[in-house]
Amino acid sequence: MTAAVPTIGVLALQGDVREHARALEGAGARTVRVRRPEELERVDALVVPGGESTTMWRLARTFELLEPLRKRIEAGMPAYGSCAGMIMLADRIRDGADGQETIGGIDMTVRRNAFGRQVDSFEAEVPLEGVGDTPFHAVFIRAPWVESVGAGVSVLGRAESGPNIGRIVAVRQGRLMATAFHPELTGDHRVHHYFADLVRRAMEEE
Ligand code: GLN
Repeated sequence: MTAAVPTIGVLALQGDVREHARALEGAGARTVRVRRPEELERVDALVVPGGESTTMWRLARTFELLEPLRKRIEAGMPAYGSCAGMIMLADRIRDGADGQETIGGIDMTVRRNAFGRQVDSFEAEVPLEGVGDTPFHAVFIRAPWVESVGAGVSVLGRAESGPNIGRIVAVRQGRLMATAFHPELTGDHRVHHYFADLVRRAMEEE
């Protein structure tokens, strides 16, 4: 039996869409840019890229994508968000713009630009539970952190050094995952492989 090739959408309203698409293709997935509800219907899973969550939220409203995105996630579509994408997948946010909404799905509170108050961007080694044997070289750019998670959320990684030691930077809740950093920017595609495997397993379960 040959493993199914998943079609993974990348939300293409704004942000580093191309880098995610390349990483996903490296992980054996087909990719589709998602800007309209019809495109969302054709994908097995979705990646929400890094970028600017306030812009993504406004464009998702304009393109009438917020409700379709919420419905697919509620119906069990796997999704992975990096940085701004982590904010978009959070049920609750702090330090958002006035009225800022998210897609939601992960039972967590995420603080926007949390590290950015002290330092705009930095790199750190972050070990991720179950995703490879060696730590990730993680790139944080005006990154959020996760302030708290509900009982159903597994913490995959935390900041291991510096003033913010212990802050949660990677999580998984069933078929949903999020990282505060950008694995799409470093050429280390283990997170995308992990997500593509999760998507294949979800497809087998359907
Ligand atoms: N600070 C951005 C936001 O609020 C996220 C930054 C990023 O994705 N690199 O959306």
